[in-house]
Amino acid sequence: MMNRSSLLLWSALLALLLLPTAAGRVLLDVAGGVILVLLALPLVLAGLGWIGWKVLQSKLITCQACGAASFGGSDRCAVCGTPLNPSSSSGPGPQQAASSMSESSAPASEVTIDVTAQDAGSDS
Ligand SMILES: [Zn+2]
Repeated sequence: MMNRSSLLLWSALLALLLLPTAAGRVLLDVAGGVILVLLALPLVLAGLGWIGWKVLQSKLITCQACGAASFGGSDRCAVCGTPLNPSSSSGPGPQQAASSMSESSAPASEVTIDVTAQDAGSDS
């Protein structure tokens, strides 16, 4: 009984797919959409991961004293305690950078902004 009903179901599905009916075309469209999504999903995920990695990289600050990477939210190195100059524009204090070392931090921030703008433009 189960075998026969499943056979009927599969033959009906095959008939729907093979016969050029409206239902068959709808099924083919749905299958094509699913396959398209399955093919595009890794690309989308890779793109999102790449953007996330770029954002993470732009937020990471490498300590000039010991080379440890720390996030821009902290103003001191978590390993050795050396004060970090924030290079990203989302940092809470542009006054700190301006007061601590104005001549050396200004070109660094300009370079960072240029690089992120170029990446965003080339991606889209
Ligand atoms: Zn350090």
